[in-house]
Amino acid sequence: MYFNEEHHALRDMVKKFVDKEINPNVDEWEEKTVPLHELFKKMGNLGLLGITYDQKYGGQGLDYWFDLVFLEELGHINAGGVPMAIAVHTHMATPAIHEYGSEYLKETYLKPAIAGDMVSAIGVTEPAAGSDVAGLKTKAIRDGNSYVINGSKLFITNGCQADFVTLLARTDDRPGFHSFGLFIVPTDLPGFVVSRKLDKLGMRCSDTAELFFDDLRVPAENLIGEAGEGFIIQMKQFQYERFCTLPGTYISARDTINMTINYISQRMAFGKPLIKNQVLRHRLVDWITEIECLKHLTYHIVRMKMEGFDATREISMGKLLAGELSFKVANGCLQMFGGMGYMNESLISRNFRDSRLLSIGGGADEVMKEVIARLEGF
Ligand SMILES: Cc1cc2nc3c(=O)[nH]c(=O)nc-3n(C[C@H](O)[C@H](O)[C@H](O)COP(=O)(O)OP(=O)(O)OC[C@H]3O[C@@H](n4cnc5c(N)ncnc54)[C@H](O)[C@@H]3O)c2cc1C
Repeated sequence: MYFNEEHHALRDMVKKFVDKEINPNVDEWEEKTVPLHELFKKMGNLGLLGITYDQKYGGQGLDYWFDLVFLEELGHINAGGVPMAIAVHTHMATPAIHEYGSEYLKETYLKPAIAGDMVSAIGVTEPAAGSDVAGLKTKAIRDGNSYVINGSKLFITNGCQADFVTLLARTDDRPGFHSFGLFIVPTDLPGFVVSRKLDKLGMRCSDTAELFFDDLRVPAENLIGEAGEGFIIQMKQFQYERFCTLPGTYISARDTINMTINYISQRMAFGKPLIKNQVLRHRLVDWITEIECLKHLTYHIVRMKMEGFDATREISMGKLLAGELSFKVANGCLQMFGGMGYMNESLISRNFRDSRLLSIGGGADEVMKEVIARLEGF
């Protein structure tokens, strides 16, 4: 109904890639970390890192339905840390370069990112500023043809392996939203330090870093867009970030439910398979219904994006629903697995740990509610 043969061809290609190059490795990567340069190079060779980006820079120049297909297939990956690492690169750290970057930035950073020759990260959150983005303290002060950056960033996905960080910093102390710059910061410059690789509850195969910038001098041409407009550009970039969490959520939640149906169809208790208990069946049906609602909200957002409408309200609703639903399903399904669900050897325990993040990262549930309330006019 929504997809043609070209969409199916992309779906098949991503599915094969996930089945062959990703899922057989995720258990090992959970113990170590996803080797991003190796993985991204393979994806770049298949044209998977720039589905909607301009062909001039190596992208596919395809529309948002193809992007949706790509993101849906990543939802079948058996560890949330892998799609998160990929999405940081494709939907969080590079959209602003594509939309607002100079020709120089597109040639120097976007092109290699799309080819899989460079790994990117997005640096917004700081030790003292997460939800309150405008409260960030990292400074980028203009000095001749450079900006000198001092400060730190916390919880930065891909931070240990990135070749560049798309970094939001304060360019002056004036109050308001026009005192920020969004910069491309190459990680091989003097003054860039990975202070710590952080240990996490879930998403264990993804690397999460604390970064430190000590008098790091970045060329002024590494500023994305107009001086002072970094905050506004990042707010727009957040819409790509929040949208990209939706397809993977309804796909992986449905996979989790299918896995659970399979388990409780075989698991006997009180003389019958667990699935014969109506209370469990009804719970599963409630979640499947909510998953379908999230899917069709997502499809509606794609239609809005295709028509050029601002979908901030709907994306915020989707992100809120996705965060709540993914954890509810993982938690509820783990309960149906009983003690086996609590064991690290079962996939559901990983889903449970990984699913906890979505209500926190990329704009917590409470932040989404504030955005929606503002857009609803109260
Ligand atoms: C694994 C992981 C990966 C991440 N990757 C990245 C990354 O790559 N790049 C990056 O920049 N950041 C990243 N983050 C950071 C993430 O976006 C932040 O954690 C998130 O924005 C919340 O900020 P905070 O942790 O500082 O929480 P805080 O802002 O301290 O908030 C704490 C709690 O208070 C709630 N709260 C805040 N304000 C209000 C309010 N007004 N009303 C009611 N409740 C409120 C929040 O919703 C939250 O639940 C990552 C985080 C994690 C855990």
